[in-house]
Amino acid sequence: MHIVILGAGYAGLRAAIDLDRLLRQSGRDDTVSLVDQYPYHQLVQVLHLTATAAMPDKKAIYELAPLLSGSGVQLVEGRIARIDPVGRLVQLTDGRALAYDRLVIALGAETAYGRVPGAREHTLTLHSYEQAIRLREHIVAQFTAAAKTSDTKAQRVLMTTAIVGGGYTGCQLAGELAGWADDLCRETGAPRSEVRIALVERTRSLLPQFGSWATLTAEQALDNLGVSVYLDTLVEAVEPQMLRVNGQRVLRAATIVWSGGIRGPELLAASGLPVDSLGRVVVDRYLRVVDYASIFAAGDCAAIPDSPGEGTVPATASYAMRQGTHLAQALFAELEGQAPRSYEPLKLGELVSLGPHYAVGNPLGVQMSGYPALLAKKAVEKYYRATIEGPLA
Ligand SMILES: Cc1cc2nc3c(=O)[nH]c(=O)nc-3n(C[C@H](O)[C@H](O)[C@H](O)COP(=O)(O)OP(=O)(O)OC[C@H]3O[C@@H](n4cnc5c(N)ncnc54)[C@H](O)[C@@H]3O)c2cc1C
Repeated sequence: MHIVILGAGYAGLRAAIDLDRLLRQSGRDDTVSLVDQYPYHQLVQVLHLTATAAMPDKKAIYELAPLLSGSGVQLVEGRIARIDPVGRLVQLTDGRALAYDRLVIALGAETAYGRVPGAREHTLTLHSYEQAIRLREHIVAQFTAAAKTSDTKAQRVLMTTAIVGGGYTGCQLAGELAGWADDLCRETGAPRSEVRIALVERTRSLLPQFGSWATLTAEQALDNLGVSVYLDTLVEAVEPQMLRVNGQRVLRAATIVWSGGIRGPELLAASGLPVDSLGRVVVDRYLRVVDYASIFAAGDCAAIPDSPGEGTVPATASYAMRQGTHLAQALFAELEGQAPRSYEPLKLGELVSLGPHYAVGNPLGVQMSGYPALLAKKAVEKYYRATIEGPLA
């Protein structure tokens, strides 16, 4: 059998490593192919650190070839254009096609712009390593330009960063940016007094998934760092260096980051797969795509039923990675002629950093904030690294 896994992110890489190990342990000769557009695995959950020079670039990615060199996984570097679920083919943009017996879709998410005019054209995003580097270079260029002018009005625009969306990405980026500002001004010569960071959120609260205690803690922590948090603020349009909010009020910023939401990759719907209103492929409790017995999906690109009454499983790296493991076991069970187990989301909690010294979250259901929460977050990251590079791999 040929099992093709699309996307070498948290879900796809985990699925490939675990499935390959199970196949080799049992002496089976099925083939696992892992397809990604990049030659590296990205640690998406640290990209806000890359974007703000808080972590060496190399620590945000792992070259896939050495990572998989001791395994039987066949690495395919290429960008997926379309899936033909009837013909069981994956088409790559360079014209190549891959035939599969079983397919795992783990393509992550794309930015959702919510039909806001100008959002796609005039904002930067933080979803990939390349985008993180681009964002950092853009900010450095604005600060460098600010250092070269004595026009304080121009300086203020150049040194203002507006972040749209107060979820995981927006809050973490805002916090790190505030932590970076001193160094950035020292290195570029830009005046520290003109730094502005605005976090714009359309609802009444930041990080709503944690409940009101975390929302207030996050607001306070960001405020202490000098981030201006604008709640209940709807972005109606984006123009070059400008946001129009709440009935034509204007916020000028040379750097505008869109972290206002995510959606499933457009190629899923274009391939005729069943998708929900967010473009995510719809799967059942076995992570099997509805109506397609040979296709599975995991991670941010999948709409996975959560516990009854709780909608779909949240889009986080920790869920994605465990879904990858689940799929490896489910596919192996199927190959061995055993009945599959249904996927039950394990709720281990989440942690969000707010600057270089602070985090907030609910690991294992315990409300936590401050430096201990940040240490817990770093421990989770360290554990993840060990699962892909070290003895746990
Ligand atoms: C800045 C930021 C901070 C975050 N912080 C946290 C955190 O602290 N904790 C947490 O749990 N979650 C966090 N998240 C969310 C988390 O990163 C995602 O939930 C996670 O990456 C989802 O994993 P995935 O495997 O579904 O997708 P991804 O990890 O995004 O992997 C998808 C893969 O598919 C590949 N791909 C996509 N399209 C194509 C194509 N057409 N052709 C070929 N390859 C393709 C990509 O290159 C990528 O390798 C954060 C997200 C961001 C953006």
